[in-house]
Amino acid sequence: MKAAVWYGKEDVRITEVPEPTVAKNQVKIKVRWCGICGSDVHEYREGPMIISKNPHPLTGKSFPVILGHEFSGDVVAIGEEVKRIKVGDRVTINCLIYCGKCPYCLEGEYNMCQKLATVGLAWDGAFAESVVVPEYTVLKLPDSVTYEMASFAEPLAVAVRAVKRSRLKVGDTAVVVGAGPIGLLVLQAARAAGASRVLVIEPISSRRELAKQLGADEVFDPAQGDVGKEIAARTDGLRAKVAFECVGNQGAFDTAVRVTGRRAMIVMVGMALKPIEVPFFRLWGHEKEITTCTGYVDEYPAALAFLADRRVQVEPMITAKIKLDDFLEKGLKEMMRSPGRYIKILVTPGEEI
Ligand SMILES: [Zn+2]
Ligand SMILES: [Zn+2]
Repeated sequence: MKAAVWYGKEDVRITEVPEPTVAKNQVKIKVRWCGICGSDVHEYREGPMIISKNPHPLTGKSFPVILGHEFSGDVVAIGEEVKRIKVGDRVTINCLIYCGKCPYCLEGEYNMCQKLATVGLAWDGAFAESVVVPEYTVLKLPDSVTYEMASFAEPLAVAVRAVKRSRLKVGDTAVVVGAGPIGLLVLQAARAAGASRVLVIEPISSRRELAKQLGADEVFDPAQGDVGKEIAARTDGLRAKVAFECVGNQGAFDTAVRVTGRRAMIVMVGMALKPIEVPFFRLWGHEKEITTCTGYVDEYPAALAFLADRRVQVEPMITAKIKLDDFLEKGLKEMMRSPGRYIKILVTPGEEI
């Protein structure tokens, strides 16, 4: 079958690989759509980052590895011990492969597994005609969730977890810093969780427009004036109760500090690759908290429910649909050439376009 295989930094090949087969507890999925994640671009440009240099302790997988973790498809084969899933089911997956035996797994904290592996990074992923995964990762799609929508279940699960980690309460004012794919999903998840207002800060005007379309009460360009003061003016000086930093750099973090009030929570959703300086004295006097979030544990059912009833809209976030053959030129490389232009590019190995 055809697949997009990561061989090394700036070396991803669309090539023929052996068709995968199912072990007794595994499910084979014919891929319909798979979204390109920012982490795929990072792995291409700077990797290996999460891709294992050595055989992974749980999966044994190093590279070459097939990329792709935000996907949907149809079950085409099941192993003899698979009970919950059947051939023909429309599905997506929870991308985390965990050991099930370490202290964290035993507590159900699977994203903290000491041997955690992710499909598409330490297990062959879904930029391919088909993918084989353990049965426990597979989730059936509600009828009203299309394959395109379902390819957003993974990043939406991340967004739902970010909101859970924020301990946002009904009526709180929230600020989202950065309206990329995750920021736009966090915006919608925060609204679904009952935020009274969600304000979005984003330098690119097309992304600000999209944030408005997806429910932002107001959008701000950080280059125009003092957003901290702007937000203070709209909240009787209280500023936001919760800020989601969805960029992962110093400037975005500083903005999150400025726009939040006393006893506020700042969630670091963005993957900050470089150290960030923290003004502890400012946080100390206001008892502000900073937290992080990574992946998801049990957020998929909520993500699928939000997609099913359209509380979270993802279609406006699809910037392009391309074929697997064009994954490099019209996908990864194009996202590197014009990073602000794309929210989500969906890739199909089939003939859907
Ligand atoms: Zn992703
Ligand atoms: Zn574990």
